Amino acid sequence: MVRNLAGIAKGMSITFREMLQPTIVENYPDGPGPLRGAVFEQRFRGAHVLQRDENGLEKCVACFLCAAACPANCIFIEAAENTAENRISSSERYAKVYNIDYNRCIFCGYCVEACPTDAITHGHGFELASLNATNMVMRKEDMLVPVSALTAK
Ligand code: SF4
Ligand code: SF4
Repeated sequence: MVRNLAGIAKGMSITFREMLQPTIVENYPDGPGPLRGAVFEQRFRGAHVLQRDENGLEKCVACFLCAAACPANCIFIEAAENTAENRISSSERYAKVYNIDYNRCIFCGYCVEACPTDAITHGHGFELASLNATNMVMRKEDMLVPVSALTAK
């Protein structure tokens, strides 16, 4: 009984102490900057980004390891062969189609960890909600870093 009361008193002391601290709020979506007031930790796992190498080629080599690692089975890839006339990645194959179904993705990061070429990463994109489930399937074109972003560096 005494131990229980001591536990309750200890818990309430933390509650009262916190009540006297200044309130910290994020002024999203009315804050300044491109994030409109949202604040992220560096390691926040947001929308995926498909990366390019220093030559502008796509890093994805269509090895399917990310799809195999995905516990939600939400990555769909169609591979195609690079040719001399049409080189998309530096390897034999590239992802002709690369979709992630955000209706199912749980942002676990397993795909990022599984990728041998660092082709897929988590960005900080977070405004992904939609009332239409078909809008939640992101295509390669939605996720791929534009070539202009490389030249701007
Ligand atoms: S973050 Fe997880 S659930 Fe989402 S695509 Fe990657 S492996 Fe699948
Ligand atoms: S994103 Fe990485 S793991 Fe997935 S298919 Fe491309 S190269 Fe392979």
